[in-house]
Amino acid sequence: AAIASCSAQQTGNTSVMQSEKEIITKKVDSLLNIMTLEEKVGQMNQYNGFWEVTGPAPEGGSAEEKYEHLRSGLVGSMLTVRGVEQVRAVQKIVVEETRLGIPLIIGFDVIHGYKTLSPIPLAESASWDMEAIQKSAEVAAKEAAASGINWTFAPMVDISRDARWGRVMEGGGEDPYLGSKIAVARVKGFQGEDLSDPLTIAATAKHFAGYGFAEAGREYNKADIGSVTLHNMVLPPFKAAKEAGVRTFMNGFNEINGVPVTGSEYLLRDILKEEWGFEGFVISDYASIEEMATHGYVKNERMAAKKAAEAGVDMDMESYAYVNELADLVRDGEVDEAVIDDAVGRILRVKFELGLFDDPYKYLDEQREKEIVGSSEIREAVLDMAKKSIVLLKNERNLLPLKKSGQKIALIGALANDKNSPLGSWRIASEDHTAVSVLEGMQQYEGNELVFEKGADLVTGQVTFINELTFNETDKSGFDAAISAAEDADVVVMVLGEHGFQSGEGRSRTNLDLPGVQQELLEKVFEVNKNVVLVLNNGRPLAIGWAAENIPAIVEAWHLGTETGNAVAQVLYGDYNPSGKLPMTFPRNIGQTPIYYNHGNTGRPVDPQPGDNMVFWSHYMDVENTPLYPFGFGLSYTTFEYDNLQLNKNSYKRNEPVEVSVQVTNTGEYDGKEVVQLYIRDLYGSIIRPVKELKGFELTELQKGETKTVNFVLSEKELGFYNAQGEYVIEPGEFEVFVGGNSMETLKASFVLEEE
Ligand code: BGC
Repeated sequence: AAIASCSAQQTGNTSVMQSEKEIITKKVDSLLNIMTLEEKVGQMNQYNGFWEVTGPAPEGGSAEEKYEHLRSGLVGSMLTVRGVEQVRAVQKIVVEETRLGIPLIIGFDVIHGYKTLSPIPLAESASWDMEAIQKSAEVAAKEAAASGINWTFAPMVDISRDARWGRVMEGGGEDPYLGSKIAVARVKGFQGEDLSDPLTIAATAKHFAGYGFAEAGREYNKADIGSVTLHNMVLPPFKAAKEAGVRTFMNGFNEINGVPVTGSEYLLRDILKEEWGFEGFVISDYASIEEMATHGYVKNERMAAKKAAEAGVDMDMESYAYVNELADLVRDGEVDEAVIDDAVGRILRVKFELGLFDDPYKYLDEQREKEIVGSSEIREAVLDMAKKSIVLLKNERNLLPLKKSGQKIALIGALANDKNSPLGSWRIASEDHTAVSVLEGMQQYEGNELVFEKGADLVTGQVTFINELTFNETDKSGFDAAISAAEDADVVVMVLGEHGFQSGEGRSRTNLDLPGVQQELLEKVFEVNKNVVLVLNNGRPLAIGWAAENIPAIVEAWHLGTETGNAVAQVLYGDYNPSGKLPMTFPRNIGQTPIYYNHGNTGRPVDPQPGDNMVFWSHYMDVENTPLYPFGFGLSYTTFEYDNLQLNKNSYKRNEPVEVSVQVTNTGEYDGKEVVQLYIRDLYGSIIRPVKELKGFELTELQKGETKTVNFVLSEKELGFYNAQGEYVIEPGEFEVFVGGNSMETLKASFVLEEE
């Protein structure tokens, strides 16, 4: 029972924990001893569920075949079976009808909530609030577990710098330090202290590794990264998740250096299992084992199974390669049975830890499901998370917060009245679920007169996860009504941006503007009323240069889930003072992408002066190098001033902590919260070091007028980096320290790390 807390190493009672681990090892070994080769391979096979238990399988094989395999012990896990009734139906088959009755582990994409949806992960990451993020994962786990789920395929911890990639919505943004903290918070939230608690679920760190670096942001494309990027940018959040005790990893679809990561012995065996000592199991991504043949990396399914198993993929998600080929490969002497035993041992261990062997039906309680799914505790947690995820990008003339009475407000944009889009992508259990729309949220504030006009539809035709979206590029018939509502209003609130299904898997874009006719609508409305508040809905950074220049107030509201409208209205009306900060850089235009704050310098000078010949600078002819909004940027209704950045010394020996302090004052008219950010720069090294690297942050509450001293301690560990060989090194030399409210506007100090 104490395995989860054991890996967290918090109780200090190592000998007791050790023995629990040993007990499980013994159980696993004795079970392995009595299993046939086919039964072992069966544990390594995962099938996609049946949308209806009795209906046809949605893809890949027939439902009959899947049932047959379930009955004969050839399935160890299922995904996307949902709800106690459906899970019970499949669990019963394996428990009652197979020879050994080994329970299934039920997996599901609980990406940002199960049925009740929290903000998309990128939005949550904008909160920089690890407690809230952990809580959000905890309530998602609770709701999923109550619905019979044992295991989520989350968190996605892929670092990404490319807003064209649709899956940035699912991650923690562009920075490995922030991404690592978020990975830990999510793992802890899902898994809790004790994995055998029926209200916690096992987590997955995915997609190991490099998927977020898909070339040109095109989904499933190769990741063209070298080892410095791999070790310093891509791997750290995975390592952090492993250290937080994550029970499973999922490999990516991509290739690196000509090898699909599904077949990468270097990543899965050498790094993950050997160097890091990961004891849980690795699941393939959906059919990624057989996709190695499509990549042209193996000749056929048989070779795919061999490569993946030997590389260290323990469970095959829906590609049939393992169940079709592995037993024969072992019998023919082509795969060592020890490889199979190791994989199955890992899978069984997690099943024991979840308590599934004690009672395979322990997650299956209809009464508990009824009480927990959609409960007020969960609604409150997702509302809290939604408010914390909002980023105020611009607020000129103090247009926000809105006055609560005596105002005529025009609310414009189809997204304002949309109860589906705000749920964002990845919400498989929530097809029948709806969000509170912004219109509904704003209607709660009755002191003002509120007029809604959609202006234009955003999408036409069917809107589902599976369909490509079609945008309205022509129908402007609603423009006139919207413009005249705007003309008449004191303030216009426009809700524009991407549809919730416009980001997520398979949703790459080559354009980061407002889709459809929305930009034109925005400009037309602004012509007649300058008091426009733009509320953005999007699953990725957008290039909103025109709006940033012209529109006085901009609120980044992402896709905030079930409670969207309430969260947005409370922020617009000042009942909640926003404190979110961007976890990804917003570019000025698509051509700057990928753009990120922690880049290295080129050999060319950094600050061109007026009159300098620009031709040979590292620059674009048509747009400056700086982003539209930098990483870490976000405003508040109040203002903060930074002062008195101090280090306790100028020069440090190895192992001596660098103590940093700064004074932050709330100089505005509201109480507020500020994410105080600390960056460093290692001025030169054996490899080029980034111009800035986040190494600490503190979410600080300040009453109006209050000054606080915020302290950071940089340990030696934060001063080093991975060299091209993947070794962690700390090199003496000069460092700079920056502290501020975003990655660009900072105070600066410096120190020396002495030679040993
Ligand atoms: C995605 C994974 C997901 C899996 C199961 C794949 O297409 O890449 O992230 O967990 O499907 O739904």
